[in-house]
Amino acid sequence: MVKIDMQKAYGTVEWCFLEQVLTEMNIPGRFLAWIMTCVTIVSYAIVVNGKPTTPFDAKRGVRQGDPLSPYLFVLAMEYLTRSLKTLRENPDFNYHPRCEKLNIIQLSFADDLLLFCRGDVVSVQLLYDFFQQFSKASGLIANQEKNSIYFGGVTEDMQQNIIKCLGFSKGSLPFRYLGVPLSSKRLSVAQCQPLLDKMVGRIKNWTVKFLSNAGETETKAKALVAWRQLCWPQSAGGLNITDMIQWIHAYYIKKQVIGKAKANQASWLVQKILGAGKYLTEANIAIEEVLSMKKYSIRLIYNKLRGDLPKVEWRRIMCNNWGSPKWRFILYLAIMERLYTRDGLLGWGIAISSACSLCGNVAESHEHLFFQCNYSANIWGKLLQWMGFQRNILGWQAEKQWAVKHGSGKKQICATFRMVLVCAVYYIWQERNWRTFRGTQRSSKEMIKLIIQEVHCRGMLNSKLARHLQNFNFYP
Ligand SMILES: [Zn+2]
Repeated sequence: MVKIDMQKAYGTVEWCFLEQVLTEMNIPGRFLAWIMTCVTIVSYAIVVNGKPTTPFDAKRGVRQGDPLSPYLFVLAMEYLTRSLKTLRENPDFNYHPRCEKLNIIQLSFADDLLLFCRGDVVSVQLLYDFFQQFSKASGLIANQEKNSIYFGGVTEDMQQNIIKCLGFSKGSLPFRYLGVPLSSKRLSVAQCQPLLDKMVGRIKNWTVKFLSNAGETETKAKALVAWRQLCWPQSAGGLNITDMIQWIHAYYIKKQVIGKAKANQASWLVQKILGAGKYLTEANIAIEEVLSMKKYSIRLIYNKLRGDLPKVEWRRIMCNNWGSPKWRFILYLAIMERLYTRDGLLGWGIAISSACSLCGNVAESHEHLFFQCNYSANIWGKLLQWMGFQRNILGWQAEKQWAVKHGSGKKQICATFRMVLVCAVYYIWQERNWRTFRGTQRSSKEMIKLIIQEVHCRGMLNSKLARHLQNFNFYP
């Protein structure tokens, strides 16, 4: 087996080669011209001492990060795949003994290339000649130092001969291919660990990005809300995000109930599945209870694993809220008081002015923004008036309590109130951010109009609410 490492694969594809391949594949001329234009108009400038030099044109290669590039690259590699197919007719070439049935000579994923053949000098040489030919045509060069060759059941003499003829170094298993260790034996837990770490890292990275305004501060990105809590149901003050790990446990348990097999002779994976029964004990569920269920519900087990959680009183403002998900997310953070308001940022020791971005007078906090601030009080007051509520504007704590008491019912006016609240909080927070980061300003009158329009648009999704909103077909 020969592992070929390609040098700067994207950067070295010859344009004329690419054009030729695309032409041979019968890509329509006009479309081809578009593609080639995209590829060939690239120019680069180098930043020297903070100033860019005059741009110079590229001569070959496809752009890194361009969504088109992977496709073009794969098509270029297709040339190699097809030319290797002709090797099959060559009587001097011998397949790798395990690959003959499947007709496999090469496996490639983007620029990761594996070639297989029998361990004799002629076959290996033939194989490599084909690659060299491809290399000359395409401009894709193998990285001589990183290429390696792997032997299985080849005599020491023969190994030496092959290595001498190719000039590659001898590699040893296991090595990584596409991030997965390749080994002739069963993979150990330690070998798979990097993969697990990567997956967990990806998920964590995503949650941190999703739940924090990392750009705003220079402190280490802090999650706004703990992951565990996000997995709680909405009624308990979470976002009902599925905790995959626990879900998988629940899934395994299902397999176990169905299988009821003996664990001793099962494969590693099946043993894992059978072993998952211990999570039932953890969740205080008797196995008999599961067995007696007519229909096994993964969700039910999942909810049990997650445990019983106390219900929060503001759940009714969040649930049954017809506002858009992004509005609800901001309202959720506002209710938890986890928006990055200036009082919080100062508390973390970040040196910024404490003055509210909307009025410029008072220190900014949740209490002030919703809706004590002159600017937002004006908006909220008009909106309350618009909905027909006669009352004073309160601070955030009191507003939340009022909303729970008067805004959580089933009446259409309550549904409207919930939607107006979530929309107002979202747009006031957006205005606060736009003023801080974009330097733009909208008057409170514009904001009221915007909020009312948005509420009407969303309200149309629910026929009952839409009918109710017809009573509010005006601006205050
Ligand atoms: Zn203010």
